[in-house]
Amino acid sequence: MQRARFLHFAEANAEWDEARFAILGVPFDGTCSYRPGSKFGPNAIREASYNFEIYHQEHDFDLEELSIFDAGNLEECGSADATVDAVEEQVSQMLAAGKFPILLGGEHSITSGAVKAYRAMKRKVGVLQFDAHLDFRDEYLGQRNSHACASRRISDIVGVSNITLVGVRSICKDEMADAKRLKLKYFTADEVVERGIAAVVDDALAYLKPKDIYVTVDIDGVDPAYAPGVGTPEPFGLTDRDLKMLLTKAAPRMVGLDLVEVCPPFDKGNTAALAARLVREVLVLKGKQK
Ligand code: MN
Ligand code: MN
Repeated sequence: MQRARFLHFAEANAEWDEARFAILGVPFDGTCSYRPGSKFGPNAIREASYNFEIYHQEHDFDLEELSIFDAGNLEECGSADATVDAVEEQVSQMLAAGKFPILLGGEHSITSGAVKAYRAMKRKVGVLQFDAHLDFRDEYLGQRNSHACASRRISDIVGVSNITLVGVRSICKDEMADAKRLKLKYFTADEVVERGIAAVVDDALAYLKPKDIYVTVDIDGVDPAYAPGVGTPEPFGLTDRDLKMLLTKAAPRMVGLDLVEVCPPFDKGNTAALAARLVREVLVLKGKQK
C-alpha cells in the first residue's frame, strides 16, 4: 500500500504539469510578536479542507472539475529573510508555468516574497490586503521582514499607491505618521461597519489601478469571534461574510492569493475551517472564470 508523503488540500489531486492552481504551505512564524503557532497553519487548513462537500451549492460547481496541485510545505523556513527569498523562488516557478498561486501561512512576512515574484516576472500587480493591522512599520524588533512590516515591504515592491488595506483597526503612532506622509490608502473596520463591505471593497478595487490584483488575507482582519485562532487577536473586526464578499468582488481581477496568520493552537479548528472554506471559495470563483 502506498503511503502519501503529506496530507494535501482536498481535491488537490493534479500533477504539476496539468494544474491550473498551485498551493504552497509556508510554515514560518519566526518573527511572531505575541502568540506563536502559525507555522501549524498550513497543515491545519489542509486538514479542515476535507470537511466540506466537493460540490459547491452556491455556485453549482464541483471542485473535482478543477486541476489543483499541492506542493506541500516550503522546506527552507529559516530566517525571515531566507523564507521570503524561498517564497519568491517558488512563486516565480508557479508564475513561469502559468499557475495561479495560493499560499497558506504562516505569518504575514511571507507575502513580500510572493509579490517580488510578480515583479521578477515583470507582471504589474496591485495588492489588496485584508488585515486588522496596518503592518506599515519599517522594521519591528530589528527585523525588516517582520510580520508587522508586511504592507511596508509590499509597498517597497509595488509602490505605495498600488496597495490598499481593508479592515484596519490597529495602527501605532509612527505607522500613522508614515502612512500620512507616504499617502498609504486604507479602509478601517469602522468604515466597513458604517458604509457596508460592498461599497468599501468597490472603492478599494477602484483605487488599485493595475488590472491584476494579488490578494493577501491576514485572517485576523476577521473578528476574533469568528477567527479566534490567530497570533494577534484584535476586537471590533469584520465578519466571515465580509471577507467572503471581499474575495468575491476581487476574484475577477485576482491573479494570486495568500491566506496567513492562522494559528491553530488558539482555537478548536474553526479558524482553519474558515480559511479552508475561503480558499475553496476562491478556487471555485476562479475556476468558473475561464
Ligand atoms: Mn494582522
Ligand atoms: Mn498582517
